[in-house]
Amino acid sequence: MSNPDSTQRFLFDQYNIRGEMVGLDHAYKEVLKRHEYPRQVQLLLGEFMAATALLASTIKFEGSLVMQLSSTGQVRTIMAECDQQSGLRAIARYNDDFSGNEPMIESGQIVISILPDNGAKYQGIINYNEQAGLSEAIEGYFTQSEQLRTRLWLTCDGNKAAGFMIQAMPDAADSHSLHLSDDDQESWDRISHLSSTVSADELLNLDNPTLLYRLFNEEEVRIFESKPLEFRCSCSRERSGSAVMQLGLEDARALIEELGYIAADCQFCNTQYHFNAHDIDALFSDKSNHRH
Ligand SMILES: [Zn+2]
Repeated sequence: MSNPDSTQRFLFDQYNIRGEMVGLDHAYKEVLKRHEYPRQVQLLLGEFMAATALLASTIKFEGSLVMQLSSTGQVRTIMAECDQQSGLRAIARYNDDFSGNEPMIESGQIVISILPDNGAKYQGIINYNEQAGLSEAIEGYFTQSEQLRTRLWLTCDGNKAAGFMIQAMPDAADSHSLHLSDDDQESWDRISHLSSTVSADELLNLDNPTLLYRLFNEEEVRIFESKPLEFRCSCSRERSGSAVMQLGLEDARALIEELGYIAADCQFCNTQYHFNAHDIDALFSDKSNHRH
């Protein structure tokens, strides 16, 4: 396959065009292992994860990128998050009476959030049209929000997922414009045309150098070192504790009285965090100690 569980950048030096490839194998399977999904949801989830990894590979600072789809169709939400330390996680929710014969996504909307470790978060919202698909929605996001010409190809076979993206880099002098010089326009048209010949089978089954050679054998392509990706969840006992504290001491104690403990399960990785009476006292006394 495309190099599994990694992203890899490539560059056409003479044209100001960059590209990114992603392949997901174990990272995707780890997500499927944690929840049972209908096949159509599995496929969407794979493409969604590949897209999120491609988008995350374009951010230049430490932090993470979250992509969240909401819809009124058979699939209610899909959320994927990728951080700069190679962690990727994802989850989908669908109707209890799921039927593969009805539209998967209706009135779809995707919120893309970029969350830097330091600094303000950025959010962009795009509409998702089921006929046009995820690739086109993301191409629109880059055109509108980032003023970057972008083409994207995504695929998933239920076992592996892969994605391929090219982007025209802005001219230093003209960084907020989609305008390209005649030469750049011609190069962009040629590289997008060559890229568009990529098949799902090639994306899933060829290693990156072979794929690039097959698409661009008459072009000069510089390929960068690949960056690993793995399934990793950013949940922790501490974070779950903060969520429990939002109940307030009184309600938390009432729940303990009733159930003996409070369970806070991570939806992404199914880790169960349990808090007993002693834990609750410790959490809330900690809070009062640290009150400013
Ligand atoms: Zn988790």
